[in-house]
Amino acid sequence: MDKTESKEVVLRGIGGAPGICIGKAYLVDREGVDLIKRYAIVDRDIPAEVNRFKNAVKKAKDELKAVVESLGEDFSSQVDILETHLVLFKDKLLYGKTIDSITQDKINAEWALKKVTRQVKTMFQRMEDDYLKSRVADISQVSEQIMRQLMGAQDIKISDIRMRVILVAHDLSPADTSQIQLEHIKGFVTDRGGRDSHTSIIAKSLNIPAVTGLGTATVNVQNDDILIVDGSTGQLIINPEEDTLFRYEERRAQYEQYRALITRESHLPSVTLDGHAMKLMANIELVEEVVSVRDNVAHGVGLFRTEFIYIDQKRFPTEDELFDRYKEAVELITPQPVTIRTLDINGDKVLPYFKNIGEENPALGLRAVRFSLQRPEIFLTQIRAILRAAAFGNIRLLIPMITCVEEIIEVKELLNRAIMDLTREEMVFNKDIPLGIMIEVPSAAIMADELAKYVDFFSIGTNDLIQYSLAIDRNNRQVAHLYRPLNPAVLRLIKMVVDAAHRQNIIVTICGEMAGDPLNVPVLMGLGFTELSMNPGSIPVIKQVIRKLNYQDVCKTAKKVLGMDNTEEIYQFVHSTYTETLQ
Ligand code: PEP
Ligand code: MG
Repeated sequence: MDKTESKEVVLRGIGGAPGICIGKAYLVDREGVDLIKRYAIVDRDIPAEVNRFKNAVKKAKDELKAVVESLGEDFSSQVDILETHLVLFKDKLLYGKTIDSITQDKINAEWALKKVTRQVKTMFQRMEDDYLKSRVADISQVSEQIMRQLMGAQDIKISDIRMRVILVAHDLSPADTSQIQLEHIKGFVTDRGGRDSHTSIIAKSLNIPAVTGLGTATVNVQNDDILIVDGSTGQLIINPEEDTLFRYEERRAQYEQYRALITRESHLPSVTLDGHAMKLMANIELVEEVVSVRDNVAHGVGLFRTEFIYIDQKRFPTEDELFDRYKEAVELITPQPVTIRTLDINGDKVLPYFKNIGEENPALGLRAVRFSLQRPEIFLTQIRAILRAAAFGNIRLLIPMITCVEEIIEVKELLNRAIMDLTREEMVFNKDIPLGIMIEVPSAAIMADELAKYVDFFSIGTNDLIQYSLAIDRNNRQVAHLYRPLNPAVLRLIKMVVDAAHRQNIIVTICGEMAGDPLNVPVLMGLGFTELSMNPGSIPVIKQVIRKLNYQDVCKTAKKVLGMDNTEEIYQFVHSTYTETLQ
């Protein structure tokens, strides 16, 4: 951190989404700095405090009951878990002991609840019985829901913010970020976050500058401080001096001019100087983004991350709700393809109504296709909706996080079941859609030759392939410096997959953030990709880069790079070879 004579402070983090914004700070987070305060209460206020607690429990319970009622029969096991929570609200331990603590210790309800929750959790953790041990997660969630009600007045919903501000948070989940209203939020910064986290991916989709992994932004920034967020370099400047402000105003204007220029050229083809054509597709999270796919003249949607439709709800969506959304997207893009990826939840994308799986290591847990195969009713609902939408345009079906052949076989069985059911029900649908898998785990890359025999296409998800092959949590700022797409191990894995796909004669594309970074494009083209999928906002830049490249030349670059053993050397080599081209 640089501190100068004046109050200007510069923090360095990770560039989450490019661009510059200048504005007032708005702190939205309670998590990092512990805002649960302890205060004493006098005897005569004890009954009121106990009532405040009881009311909070009642409200939390009513909210949960409404969720349970909205769930259909398909979700019986989820209902079971939520019903356990309903019982826990009035449990002697949590409920009774909190009231005792308010009365005996003469402290506020929040503090009493916090203290009792900790005690009860410790007690359960020490139990021999695994089932009881696993109740710890339930207790945390119930307690959190009550706490939210108690602190209700201070609970800020991002979608309710009505000022043109820059959000400052300890952490923002992908679900929080997807609530951002563009007309109100200029940009955001967070203490936490690593490279290619889903939070940054959404910021890029929204086209708002973001810096993550700042460590102490919530401590250094006060509400209403003037901030400069430089998402391209990963810097946050707090209370800038006049000179700095002036300099950044100019930079911001230049950046906007540059964006306008390349966007105007977006209709030009993505063909190299020597006539090699590339297909550029878009990654989207919401149907609304289809507009920017068209504005940026993409060759369709290479990745539709469908989980955000689920995240924005209070319960799992129904088949008809999903069908309507998919149909809308497909009809807007047709005849270009829309690659619909089935639900990739858990990991860092937790559904608000399905938080209770209590995994210690979520990135290695019940994520993506593993969840879908464990909950076939949820998966079937989704694939039925996709098959029905396929009657209205060009859909490709993509399955996330496949690690082995058995998973593909199980997916295909469920797909056949959906097809048989839809046929029997005489529904309008299209069963002839290409089936693809994400290659984002090393085991899938190693087995690519075998997996290719079962599917029509591969889409390499480098965000996770880097995370899982280099053992780097993509949300962890401490190891973000190690998260490097040009790592030779990553490049060799990618090459293995591309070669396997070519041998087996199937399409291979890449949809990780790596594909949207100009520096990586010559290498990826040289490795053999003809199709790249990226954030829609990156398409104009990448098109421009491709138009300046020579295909013969990038093939040589890739060959050379594959023989190198050191990430920094690869980076320097690619950088020095293409600096002029990329300017
Ligand atoms: C990836 O892992 O590269 C990918 C595109 O999927 P996601 O970022 O949604 O995990
Ligand atoms: Mg992934």
